[in-house]
Amino acid sequence: MTDPHNRRGVMLVFCAPSGAGKTTITRQLLKNDDKISLSVSATTRAARPGEEEGTHYFFKSVDEFKHMIADDELLEWAEVFGNYYGTPIGPVEKALSEGRDVLFDIDWQGARQLRDKGGDDVVSVFILPPSSGELERRLRDRGQDADDVIMKRMAKAGAEISHWEEFDYVLINDDLTRCIADVQHIIGAERIKRERQTGLPGFVKKLLTD
Ligand code: 5GP
Repeated sequence: MTDPHNRRGVMLVFCAPSGAGKTTITRQLLKNDDKISLSVSATTRAARPGEEEGTHYFFKSVDEFKHMIADDELLEWAEVFGNYYGTPIGPVEKALSEGRDVLFDIDWQGARQLRDKGGDDVVSVFILPPSSGELERRLRDRGQDADDVIMKRMAKAGAEISHWEEFDYVLINDDLTRCIADVQHIIGAERIKRERQTGLPGFVKKLLTD
């Protein structure tokens, strides 16, 4: 008999303006739950100090990225801050088929494409910063980017936030611990949604016939 706990993996899409705390939340989530894998995106932007190929991103030239688009290797892609970003299909399909959940740290354009393609498999979460002042402070404190990049990101933040109503869940990150707990509750509930529990029909049939 198949395992009654068999289920489809959740495609968990995380969106937020830069500086809302998305990376911190993502890291904690991956640390606390070994059933979740992070989708590693391909990008044409330069690696920041400490970023590693294959762990943070797959760093590509514009030419290589355009080939990936042409060869249908990307589940979604978008241009963000003048660079290309996209999600390679292969690892996502593998993880989902193994009943693992996949976390996507992508922008609203990618979220929209994933919703179109992934349908009910997709659960989307938007993370808001507690205030615009705090958002700017967090962006400056990183010390990784030049002033003009920070200004560009502040301007972009407003545009990103304007898509908040497209998401299933919206969290305000004014308390990191609570925010992480909220995301864990979301995943926990989504995993036991009836439609995701592919082992249930067989289990219930057996319950009724035994
Ligand atoms: P960063 O350069 O700070 O790592 O990311 C910039 C923005 O690109 C973030 O909003 C991030 O979520 C988004 N992003 C990263 N990877 C992808 C991707 O594969 N697809 C899309 N659509 N956006 C991405």
